[in-house]
Amino acid sequence: MKAVSAPIPVFNRLALLGVGLIGSSIARAARSQGAAREIVACARTAATRRRVAELGLADQVVETNAAAVAGADLVIVCAPVGVCGEIAKEVAPQLKSGAIVSDVGSVKGAIVRDMTPYIPDGVHFVPAHPVAGTEHSGPDAGFAELFVGRWCILTPPANADAGAVERLAIFWRMLGANVERMPADHHDLVLAITSHLPHLIAYTIVGTADELGEVTRSEVLKFSAGGFRDFTRIAASDPTMWRDVFLANKDAVLEMLGTFNEDLAQLTRAIRRGDGEALFEHFTRTRAIRRGIVEIGQDSPAPDFGRSHSELPIEPMPRPYAVPDDS
Ligand code: NAP
Repeated sequence: MKAVSAPIPVFNRLALLGVGLIGSSIARAARSQGAAREIVACARTAATRRRVAELGLADQVVETNAAAVAGADLVIVCAPVGVCGEIAKEVAPQLKSGAIVSDVGSVKGAIVRDMTPYIPDGVHFVPAHPVAGTEHSGPDAGFAELFVGRWCILTPPANADAGAVERLAIFWRMLGANVERMPADHHDLVLAITSHLPHLIAYTIVGTADELGEVTRSEVLKFSAGGFRDFTRIAASDPTMWRDVFLANKDAVLEMLGTFNEDLAQLTRAIRRGDGEALFEHFTRTRAIRRGIVEIGQDSPAPDFGRSHSELPIEPMPRPYAVPDDS
């Protein structure tokens, strides 16, 4: 029988600055795939540090970002978008020459603007965004398979070192992701429509339902399988993360929101006029888009919005009523 050789780690020392859903998933996946020889994690609160140690997510758990990056050849900032600049400033003097600094932020333009000024000469900055997540937060929420079959978008600056970009791409591929490269501003425009606007709509609709009276509200819960439940899952996403996303990607989100409002006005008009043909045409077009997403493997045909329950590492959200999905 042919011996199976262990994978060669791409990095000797990986420093994770922030160990929430994404940081802890990287730790788990990097360990299980042998992508890094040693993992050092930094969390700002004692509670998270304790939990990271209990879960055995890293070889070392340290208190400061500066201590974590010492000697690291890959540093990934896994904190909310709004604090990435100050973290870069804090760690800059400790970065090893030749190290790669990356991040996982859901917005790229603002991260490039905030972090680039602090990256020393001889250190390679390769921003990244794994387009994978759940509505849960913290080190317990992560899982090694989070990135499998998902995209990780790298947004290296035009003058980035090609070798450093390729090493980071190999790392993400080892974690199971498909890797794509694009300019940061293009990323922000694409994600504004595919991720940021849907979250804004979910936050809005759940808020609107909450403003309804008591009686209606209980009916909202009771009949939530008719579509509303999917929105409540998205609207449960971390408030800090999403506040930062909308502040940091303001221009692209406002541009997409303008187009969305125009389209919503058209559908509103069709409903008001009883224009069934216009509604039918629109819904047929959107159904084809959904089928296309399933065909390229970016979702399962299961009725839930994201991963099917069987793929979830954690218990699905409790259903208030055991009714079949009829959305
Ligand atoms: P999370 O589970 O809430 O974890 C955030 C981590 O950042 C925690 O370890 C937290 O430390 C740390 N942190 C918070 N504020 C900080 C500060 N001021 N300074 C230093 N560390 C700080 O969040 P997440 O979902 O992993 O998101 C992290 C990043 O991933 C964000 O930039 C987000 O845009 C991006 N992202 C998220 C998703 C998603 O679906 N969630 C998907 C792709 C990318 P404590 O625990 O000690 O407070």
